[in-house]
Amino acid sequence: MDKIPFNKPFLTGKELGYIGEVIASGSVGSDGRFTKLCSRLMEERFGIRKTLLTPSCTDALEMAFILADLGPGDEVIVPSFTFVSTVTAFMRTGARPVFIDIRPDTLNMDDALIEEAITPRTKVIAPVHYAGVGCEMDRIMTIASQHNLTVVEDAAQGVHAYYEGRALGSIGHLGAYSFHETKNYVCGEGGALCINDPRFLERAEILRDKGTNRAKFFRGEVDKYTWVDIGSSFLPSEITSAFLYAQLEELDSIGQRRRAIYETYRAGLEPLAQQGLLRLPHIPDECVTNYHMFYILLPDATTRDELMAHLRTVGISAVFHYVPLHTSPMGLQLGNREGQLPVTEDLSARLLRLPFYGDLTNADQQRVIDAIGAFLNSRVATPREASVAPRVAG
Ligand SMILES: *Cc1c(COP(=O)(O)O)cnc(C)c1O
Repeated sequence: MDKIPFNKPFLTGKELGYIGEVIASGSVGSDGRFTKLCSRLMEERFGIRKTLLTPSCTDALEMAFILADLGPGDEVIVPSFTFVSTVTAFMRTGARPVFIDIRPDTLNMDDALIEEAITPRTKVIAPVHYAGVGCEMDRIMTIASQHNLTVVEDAAQGVHAYYEGRALGSIGHLGAYSFHETKNYVCGEGGALCINDPRFLERAEILRDKGTNRAKFFRGEVDKYTWVDIGSSFLPSEITSAFLYAQLEELDSIGQRRRAIYETYRAGLEPLAQQGLLRLPHIPDECVTNYHMFYILLPDATTRDELMAHLRTVGISAVFHYVPLHTSPMGLQLGNREGQLPVTEDLSARLLRLPFYGDLTNADQQRVIDAIGAFLNSRVATPREASVAPRVAG
Protein backbone atom coordinates (compact mmCIF):
# COMPACT_ATOMS: atom_id res chain seq x y z
CA MET A 1 0.00 0.00 0.00
CA ASP A 2 1.22 3.52 -0.80
CA LYS A 3 2.82 5.43 2.00
CA ILE A 4 1.07 8.54 3.30
CA PRO A 5 3.73 11.06 4.28
CA PHE A 6 3.24 13.47 7.15
CA ASN A 7 3.91 16.57 5.05
CA LYS A 8 4.39 17.49 1.41
CA PRO A 9 4.88 21.10 0.32
CA PHE A 10 1.93 22.22 -1.78
CA LEU A 11 2.78 24.03 -5.03
CA THR A 12 0.47 26.40 -6.90
CA GLY A 13 2.25 25.91 -10.24
CA LYS A 14 3.48 29.47 -10.66
CA GLU A 15 6.64 29.15 -8.59
CA LEU A 16 9.04 28.19 -11.41
CA GLY A 17 7.73 30.88 -13.74
CA TYR A 18 8.26 33.62 -11.19
CA ILE A 19 11.72 32.32 -10.29
CA GLY A 20 12.51 32.29 -14.03
CA GLU A 21 11.48 35.95 -14.26
CA VAL A 22 13.87 36.84 -11.46
CA ILE A 23 16.77 35.02 -13.09
CA ALA A 24 16.01 36.59 -16.49
CA SER A 25 15.88 40.05 -14.92
CA GLY A 26 19.49 39.78 -13.78
CA SER A 27 18.66 41.08 -10.28
CA VAL A 28 18.60 38.12 -7.94
CA GLY A 29 19.61 39.94 -4.74
CA SER A 30 17.35 41.23 -2.00
CA ASP A 31 14.42 43.64 -1.85
CA GLY A 32 13.47 43.57 -5.52
CA ARG A 33 10.08 43.37 -7.16
CA PHE A 34 8.84 40.09 -5.64
CA THR A 35 9.98 40.92 -2.11
CA LYS A 36 8.03 44.18 -2.36
CA LEU A 37 4.97 42.40 -3.80
CA CYS A 38 4.99 39.90 -0.92
CA SER A 39 5.37 42.62 1.72
CA ARG A 40 2.60 44.75 0.26
CA LEU A 41 0.24 41.80 -0.07
CA MET A 42 0.70 40.86 3.59
CA GLU A 43 0.46 44.44 4.82
CA GLU A 44 -2.82 44.94 2.95
CA ARG A 45 -4.43 41.59 3.63
CA PHE A 46 -3.40 41.34 7.28
CA GLY A 47 -3.47 44.98 8.32
CA ILE A 48 0.19 45.05 9.33
CA ARG A 49 2.00 48.39 9.43
CA LYS A 50 5.12 46.93 7.80
CA THR A 51 6.35 43.45 6.97
CA LEU A 52 10.00 42.73 6.28
CA LEU A 53 10.78 39.41 4.60
CA THR A 54 13.53 37.41 6.31
CA PRO A 55 15.33 34.13 5.54
CA SER A 56 13.32 32.37 8.30
CA CYS A 57 10.85 32.93 11.12
CA THR A 58 13.71 32.28 13.53
CA ASP A 59 15.49 35.28 12.03
CA ALA A 60 12.35 37.41 12.30
CA LEU A 61 12.04 36.43 15.97
CA GLU A 62 15.70 37.21 16.53
CA MET A 63 15.15 40.67 15.05
CA ALA A 64 12.04 41.19 17.17
CA PHE A 65 13.85 40.33 20.39
CA ILE A 66 16.78 42.64 19.53
CA LEU A 67 14.25 45.41 18.79
CA ALA A 68 12.59 44.76 22.15
CA ASP A 69 15.97 45.71 23.59
CA LEU A 70 16.54 42.50 25.54
CA GLY A 71 19.78 42.22 27.46
CA PRO A 72 21.46 40.05 30.11
CA GLY A 73 19.15 39.19 33.00
CA ASP A 74 15.96 40.27 31.25
CA GLU A 75 13.08 37.82 31.30
CA VAL A 76 10.75 36.67 28.54
CA ILE A 77 7.48 34.93 29.40
CA VAL A 78 6.96 32.04 26.94
CA PRO A 79 5.20 28.71 26.71
CA SER A 80 7.42 25.64 26.99
CA PHE A 81 5.12 23.84 24.54
CA THR A 82 6.59 25.40 21.38
CA PHE A 83 9.22 25.01 18.72
CA VAL A 84 12.72 25.78 19.96
CA SER A 85 13.02 28.94 17.83
CA THR A 86 10.64 30.92 20.04
CA VAL A 87 13.25 30.77 22.79
CA THR A 88 16.55 30.18 21.06
CA ALA A 89 15.98 33.44 19.15
CA PHE A 90 16.62 35.54 22.26
CA MET A 91 19.16 33.43 24.17
CA ARG A 92 22.15 35.25 22.70
CA THR A 93 20.87 38.58 24.07
CA GLY A 94 21.46 37.12 27.55
CA ALA A 95 17.75 37.16 28.37
CA ARG A 96 16.19 34.14 30.10
CA PRO A 97 12.99 32.26 29.35
CA VAL A 98 10.33 32.11 32.06
CA PHE A 99 8.21 29.16 30.97
CA ILE A 100 4.51 29.11 31.77
CA ASP A 101 1.98 26.35 31.29
CA ILE A 102 -0.59 26.05 28.48
CA ARG A 103 -4.37 26.09 28.47
CA PRO A 104 -5.84 22.59 28.29
CA ASP A 105 -8.35 23.64 25.61
CA THR A 106 -6.24 25.32 22.89
CA LEU A 107 -2.75 24.32 24.10
CA ASN A 108 -1.83 28.01 23.86
CA MET A 109 0.00 29.95 26.59
CA ASP A 110 -2.31 30.09 29.64
CA ASP A 111 -3.11 33.78 29.91
CA ALA A 112 -4.29 33.29 33.50
CA LEU A 113 -0.69 32.47 34.50
CA ILE A 114 1.04 35.48 32.95
CA GLU A 115 0.66 38.03 35.73
CA GLU A 116 2.08 35.81 38.45
CA ALA A 117 5.13 35.19 36.24
CA ILE A 118 5.93 38.91 35.89
CA THR A 119 8.95 40.18 37.85
CA PRO A 120 10.83 43.51 37.75
CA ARG A 121 13.08 41.89 35.09
CA THR A 122 10.26 40.92 32.72
CA LYS A 123 10.47 42.72 29.39
CA VAL A 124 8.64 40.65 26.81
CA ILE A 125 5.65 38.32 26.53
CA ALA A 126 5.97 35.94 23.58
CA PRO A 127 2.68 34.16 22.86
CA VAL A 128 2.76 31.32 20.31
CA HIS A 129 -0.39 30.75 18.25
CA TYR A 130 -0.36 26.98 18.31
CA ALA A 131 -1.85 25.22 15.27
CA GLY A 132 -2.96 28.57 13.85
CA VAL A 133 -5.43 29.21 16.69
CA GLY A 134 -5.04 32.60 18.31
CA CYS A 135 -3.95 33.14 21.91
CA GLU A 136 -6.11 35.33 24.17
CA MET A 137 -4.59 38.47 22.67
CA ASP A 138 -6.95 41.01 24.25
CA ARG A 139 -5.97 39.89 27.72
CA ILE A 140 -2.29 39.56 26.81
CA MET A 141 -2.15 43.09 25.33
CA THR A 142 -3.91 44.52 28.38
CA ILE A 143 -1.46 42.87 30.78
CA ALA A 144 1.46 44.04 28.63
CA SER A 145 0.34 47.65 28.64
CA GLN A 146 -0.30 47.61 32.40
CA HIS A 147 3.28 46.39 32.99
CA ASN A 148 4.93 48.23 30.11
CA LEU A 149 6.00 45.03 28.32
CA THR A 150 6.58 44.34 24.63
CA VAL A 151 4.51 41.59 22.99
CA VAL A 152 6.22 39.51 20.29
CA GLU A 153 3.75 37.16 18.60
CA ASP A 154 5.25 33.91 17.35
CA ALA A 155 2.78 33.60 14.49
CA ALA A 156 4.92 31.06 12.60
CA GLN A 157 1.84 28.82 12.34
CA GLY A 158 -0.63 31.68 12.18
CA VAL A 159 -0.39 33.17 8.67
CA HIS A 160 -3.92 34.05 7.48
CA ALA A 161 -5.54 33.13 10.82
CA TYR A 162 -7.58 35.60 12.88
CA TYR A 163 -8.46 36.58 16.43
CA GLU A 164 -11.53 38.78 16.84
CA GLY A 165 -11.26 39.71 13.19
CA ARG A 166 -7.61 40.74 13.40
CA ALA A 167 -4.84 38.78 11.68
CA LEU A 168 -2.45 36.93 13.94
CA GLY A 169 0.88 38.76 13.71
CA SER A 170 -0.88 42.13 13.45
CA ILE A 171 -1.87 42.43 17.12
CA GLY A 172 1.34 42.46 19.18
CA HIS A 173 3.98 45.19 18.94
CA LEU A 174 5.94 42.77 16.76
CA GLY A 175 5.15 39.43 15.13
CA ALA A 176 6.88 36.72 13.13
CA TYR A 177 5.67 34.47 10.28
CA SER A 178 7.23 31.31 8.88
CA PHE A 179 7.23 30.05 5.29
CA HIS A 180 9.16 26.90 6.10
CA GLU A 181 8.20 23.90 3.97
CA THR A 182 6.03 22.50 6.76
CA LYS A 183 3.86 25.61 7.07
CA ASN A 184 0.72 26.65 5.15
CA TYR A 185 2.50 28.98 2.70
CA VAL A 186 6.00 27.93 1.78
CA CYS A 187 9.14 28.99 -0.06
CA GLY A 188 11.59 26.37 1.23
CA GLU A 189 12.92 28.47 4.08
CA GLY A 190 11.54 31.92 4.74
CA GLY A 191 9.87 34.23 7.21
CA ALA A 192 8.67 37.75 7.85
CA LEU A 193 8.88 40.26 10.65
CA CYS A 194 5.58 42.04 11.28
CA ILE A 195 6.03 45.53 12.69
CA ASN A 196 2.90 47.01 14.19
CA ASP A 197 4.40 49.54 16.61
CA PRO A 198 5.95 52.36 14.55
CA ARG A 199 8.71 52.96 17.08
CA PHE A 200 10.47 49.84 15.73
CA LEU A 201 10.28 50.70 12.00
CA GLU A 202 13.54 52.52 11.52
CA ARG A 203 15.76 50.24 13.58
CA ALA A 204 14.26 47.11 12.02
CA GLU A 205 15.41 48.14 8.53
CA ILE A 206 18.89 48.88 9.84
CA LEU A 207 19.21 45.59 11.75
CA ARG A 208 18.12 43.64 8.71
CA ASP A 209 20.77 45.19 6.47
CA LYS A 210 24.02 44.69 8.42
CA GLY A 211 23.50 47.68 10.68
CA THR A 212 23.45 50.15 7.78
CA ASN A 213 20.94 52.82 6.78
CA ARG A 214 20.85 51.55 3.19
CA ALA A 215 17.02 51.49 3.11
CA LYS A 216 17.00 55.23 3.81
CA PHE A 217 19.55 55.77 1.06
CA PHE A 218 17.37 53.90 -1.46
CA ARG A 219 14.46 56.14 -0.50
CA GLY A 220 16.65 59.20 -1.03
CA GLU A 221 16.44 60.21 2.64
CA VAL A 222 20.26 60.28 3.04
CA ASP A 223 22.85 60.96 0.32
CA LYS A 224 25.11 58.01 1.19
CA TYR A 225 24.66 54.94 3.31
CA THR A 226 26.86 53.92 6.20
CA TRP A 227 27.23 51.80 9.33
CA VAL A 228 24.95 53.11 12.10
CA ASP A 229 24.03 50.23 14.47
CA ILE A 230 24.38 46.51 15.15
CA GLY A 231 22.78 44.15 12.63
CA SER A 232 23.11 41.09 10.50
CA SER A 233 22.05 39.93 7.05
CA PHE A 234 18.38 39.12 7.56
CA LEU A 235 17.59 39.47 3.83
CA PRO A 236 16.07 36.76 1.62
CA SER A 237 16.95 36.69 -2.08
CA GLU A 238 14.48 37.53 -4.82
CA ILE A 239 14.50 33.86 -5.84
CA THR A 240 12.93 32.94 -2.52
CA SER A 241 10.49 35.85 -2.62
CA ALA A 242 9.35 34.88 -6.13
CA PHE A 243 8.54 31.39 -4.83
CA LEU A 244 6.67 32.90 -1.91
CA TYR A 245 4.65 35.29 -4.06
CA ALA A 246 3.30 32.35 -6.07
CA GLN A 247 1.97 31.02 -2.77
CA LEU A 248 0.66 34.22 -1.22
CA GLU A 249 -1.32 35.01 -4.37
CA GLU A 250 -3.27 31.84 -3.57
CA LEU A 251 -3.83 32.76 0.07
CA ASP A 252 -7.55 31.97 -0.08
CA SER A 253 -7.55 28.90 -2.30
CA ILE A 254 -4.80 27.23 -0.25
CA GLY A 255 -6.78 28.15 2.87
CA GLN A 256 -9.92 26.53 1.44
CA ARG A 257 -8.09 23.31 0.60
CA ARG A 258 -6.78 23.08 4.14
CA ARG A 259 -10.20 23.75 5.56
CA ALA A 260 -11.71 20.87 3.57
CA ILE A 261 -9.01 18.49 4.81
CA TYR A 262 -9.51 19.64 8.39
CA GLU A 263 -13.29 19.21 8.21
CA THR A 264 -12.92 15.71 6.77
CA TYR A 265 -10.72 14.66 9.68
CA ARG A 266 -13.06 16.27 12.14
CA ALA A 267 -16.17 14.60 10.78
CA GLY A 268 -14.43 11.24 10.38
CA LEU A 269 -13.00 11.20 13.90
CA GLU A 270 -16.02 12.69 15.67
CA PRO A 271 -17.55 9.26 16.43
CA LEU A 272 -14.33 8.21 18.18
CA ALA A 273 -14.41 11.43 20.19
CA GLN A 274 -18.04 10.69 21.13
CA GLN A 275 -16.94 7.27 22.38
CA GLY A 276 -14.32 8.99 24.53
CA LEU A 277 -11.44 7.33 22.67
CA LEU A 278 -9.73 10.56 21.68
CA ARG A 279 -10.08 14.33 21.91
CA LEU A 280 -10.34 16.71 18.94
CA PRO A 281 -8.86 20.23 18.70
CA HIS A 282 -10.80 23.13 20.21
CA ILE A 283 -11.23 26.44 18.37
CA PRO A 284 -12.66 29.28 20.49
CA ASP A 285 -15.49 31.36 18.99
CA GLU A 286 -13.31 34.47 18.67
CA CYS A 287 -10.75 32.62 16.53
CA VAL A 288 -10.73 31.84 12.81
CA THR A 289 -8.03 29.27 12.23
CA ASN A 290 -5.94 28.76 9.09
CA TYR A 291 -6.17 24.97 9.59
CA HIS A 292 -2.43 24.69 10.07
CA MET A 293 -2.53 21.17 11.48
CA PHE A 294 -4.79 18.41 12.71
CA TYR A 295 -3.86 16.82 16.01
CA ILE A 296 -5.64 14.37 18.28
CA LEU A 297 -5.18 13.79 22.00
CA LEU A 298 -5.13 10.17 23.15
CA PRO A 299 -6.09 9.00 26.65
CA ASP A 300 -2.49 8.37 27.68
CA ALA A 301 1.10 8.35 26.42
CA THR A 302 1.16 4.56 25.88
CA THR A 303 -1.88 4.67 23.59
CA ARG A 304 -0.32 7.56 21.68
CA ASP A 305 2.98 5.76 21.19
CA GLU A 306 1.33 2.48 20.21
CA LEU A 307 -1.05 4.20 17.78
CA MET A 308 1.85 6.05 16.17
CA ALA A 309 3.79 2.79 15.79
CA HIS A 310 0.71 1.02 14.42
CA LEU A 311 0.11 3.74 11.83
CA ARG A 312 3.71 3.43 10.71
CA THR A 313 3.22 -0.29 10.06
CA VAL A 314 0.34 0.52 7.70
CA GLY A 315 2.36 3.18 5.88
CA ILE A 316 0.96 6.27 7.60
CA SER A 317 3.38 8.83 8.98
CA ALA A 318 1.93 10.55 12.05
CA VAL A 319 4.23 12.49 14.36
CA PHE A 320 4.24 14.13 17.77
CA HIS A 321 5.75 17.31 19.14
CA TYR A 322 7.01 19.10 21.17
CA VAL A 323 9.43 17.77 23.74
CA PRO A 324 8.63 20.54 26.24
CA LEU A 325 11.48 23.04 26.21
CA HIS A 326 11.72 23.16 30.01
CA THR A 327 12.53 19.42 30.14
CA SER A 328 14.97 19.50 27.20
CA PRO A 329 18.70 19.29 28.04
CA MET A 330 19.05 23.06 27.56
CA GLY A 331 15.91 23.80 29.56
CA LEU A 332 17.11 21.65 32.48
CA GLN A 333 20.52 23.32 32.33
CA LEU A 334 18.72 26.64 32.81
CA GLY A 335 17.31 25.38 36.10
CA ASN A 336 13.94 24.04 35.05
CA ARG A 337 12.70 20.65 36.19
CA GLU A 338 10.26 17.95 35.30
CA GLY A 339 6.87 18.37 36.95
CA GLN A 340 7.06 22.16 36.70
CA LEU A 341 4.39 22.51 34.00
CA PRO A 342 1.86 19.69 34.46
CA VAL A 343 -0.52 20.53 31.59
CA THR A 344 2.33 20.88 29.09
CA GLU A 345 3.90 17.62 30.22
CA ASP A 346 0.62 15.74 30.18
CA LEU A 347 -0.72 16.93 26.82
CA SER A 348 2.57 16.81 24.90
CA ALA A 349 2.85 13.11 25.81
CA ARG A 350 -0.65 12.35 24.46
CA LEU A 351 -0.67 14.41 21.27
CA LEU A 352 -0.44 13.01 17.76
CA ARG A 353 -0.39 15.02 14.52
CA LEU A 354 -1.98 13.46 11.46
CA PRO A 355 -0.75 13.74 7.85
CA PHE A 356 -1.82 17.17 6.55
CA TYR A 357 -0.92 18.81 3.24
CA GLY A 358 -2.69 20.51 0.35
CA ASP A 359 -2.59 17.47 -1.94
CA LEU A 360 -3.82 14.96 0.64
CA THR A 361 -6.57 12.96 -1.08
CA ASN A 362 -9.90 12.04 0.40
CA ALA A 363 -9.10 8.35 0.00
CA ASP A 364 -5.84 8.70 1.89
CA GLN A 365 -7.56 10.65 4.64
CA GLN A 366 -10.15 7.91 4.92
CA ARG A 367 -7.35 5.39 5.30
CA VAL A 368 -5.92 7.41 8.19
CA ILE A 369 -9.33 7.74 9.87
CA ASP A 370 -10.11 4.03 9.44
CA ALA A 371 -6.70 2.96 10.75
CA ILE A 372 -7.12 5.08 13.87
CA GLY A 373 -10.64 3.78 14.43
CA ALA A 374 -9.65 0.15 13.98
CA PHE A 375 -6.73 0.50 16.36
CA LEU A 376 -8.60 2.33 19.12
CA ASN A 377 -11.66 0.09 18.92
CA SER A 378 -9.52 -3.03 19.12
CA ARG A 379 -8.11 -1.67 22.36
CA VAL A 380 -11.56 -1.03 23.79
CA ALA A 381 -12.28 -4.72 23.31
CA THR A 382 -9.44 -5.49 25.71
CA PRO A 383 -10.19 -3.63 28.96
CA ARG A 384 -7.89 -0.77 29.84
CA GLU A 385 -7.62 1.47 32.83
CA ALA A 386 -7.64 4.90 31.26
CA SER A 387 -10.46 6.70 29.54
CA VAL A 388 -10.19 10.10 27.99
CA ALA A 389 -11.77 12.54 30.36
CA PRO A 390 -11.84 15.70 28.25
CA ARG A 391 -10.43 18.53 30.29
CA VAL A 392 -11.88 21.91 29.75
CA ALA A 393 -10.36 25.27 30.54
CA GLY A 394 -11.71 27.03 33.55
C1 LIG B 1 8.08 26.68 12.39
C2 LIG B 1 8.11 27.45 13.63
C3 LIG B 1 9.14 28.37 13.91
C4 LIG B 1 10.37 28.50 13.07
O1 LIG B 1 10.16 28.86 11.76
P1 LIG B 1 11.40 28.85 10.74
O2 LIG B 1 10.87 29.59 9.56
O3 LIG B 1 11.72 27.42 10.46
O4 LIG B 1 12.53 29.57 11.39
C5 LIG B 1 9.05 29.13 15.06
N1 LIG B 1 8.03 28.98 15.91
C6 LIG B 1 7.03 28.11 15.70
C7 LIG B 1 5.91 28.02 16.68
C8 LIG B 1 7.05 27.30 14.56
O5 LIG B 1 6.06 26.42 14.36
